[in-house]
Amino acid sequence: MIYEKAPAKINLTLDVLYKRDDGYHEVEMVMTTVDLSDRLGFECLNVNKVVIDSENRFVPDDHRNLAYQAAQVFKEYCGIKSGVKIEIDKNIPVAAGLAGGSSDAAATIRGLNRLFTTNLTNREMEKMAEQIGSDVPFCIQGGTQLATGRGEVLDPLPPLPPCYVVLAKPNIGVSTKEVYDRVNFERMKHPHTKKVIKALNNQDFSSVCDRLENVLEPITVSMHKEIPQIKEQMVNAEADGVLMSGSGPTVYALVKQESKADRIYNSLKGFCQEVYIVHSLR
Ligand code: ATP
Repeated sequence: MIYEKAPAKINLTLDVLYKRDDGYHEVEMVMTTVDLSDRLGFECLNVNKVVIDSENRFVPDDHRNLAYQAAQVFKEYCGIKSGVKIEIDKNIPVAAGLAGGSSDAAATIRGLNRLFTTNLTNREMEKMAEQIGSDVPFCIQGGTQLATGRGEVLDPLPPLPPCYVVLAKPNIGVSTKEVYDRVNFERMKHPHTKKVIKALNNQDFSSVCDRLENVLEPITVSMHKEIPQIKEQMVNAEADGVLMSGSGPTVYALVKQESKADRIYNSLKGFCQEVYIVHSLR
């Protein structure tokens, strides 16, 4: 069996520019990977099918699983007739705004590229990833990138300066589709994406923290009061920057000092079921 790590991502910015004629939203997002990862294992099967094996009861084991879809797309593209077993050891909270499913799909494409020695380039793998979901191309290489188009146009950026990232996921379900359906372009305050990119170029941590913005946050906040409560606790515990990731409900804090990260973790542990202290990935 061969293994691949599938890291979670957070949004430093998330902007929705307009709804396109093809139904997708045109977005502008600065995203970065963090070291909270699923672990995927891959092996060949003699029968021509894709088998998903996960102990997590929230992870579907059929065509609804994004890793399953990625394996089908890969097999079709590369003309592979043998089957594949995919083990998913899930650590990223499910339906959290952390792109767990998308990262599993990207890890599947990378893993199968190794398993079958197909030598696909990153660009080829990103093109394949587009067919599965808007966040999947970013997850092929991860790091820190600007994603535009519907998420598939990628420009690498300098990494988030080293810091602690405290992730807190309240025990509520958020429908990404419902959040996007509620986007109101007239009342929207757009993030200063260029200023965040400039701050990353200058490795200016405090300017990055001052400019964290997500247009979906007010929408999810209007449905779930837990999100502003978590943000308030993080700010009270002296987080350097705080934002909801993706369509939520996970909220994260960026902090330079370990003692502050511990304080934020402890202040939220009783309130949220899932709290993690992780790092940004270079
Ligand atoms: P994004 O940030 O890309 O919107 P998310 O983090 O909000 O994604 P996921 O963890 O990817 O959400 O899960 C969303 C839904 O996708 C889940 O309800 C689950 O049923 C389904 N799903 C499909 N494949 C997977 C997978 N490999 N891991 C987890 N969930 C998956």
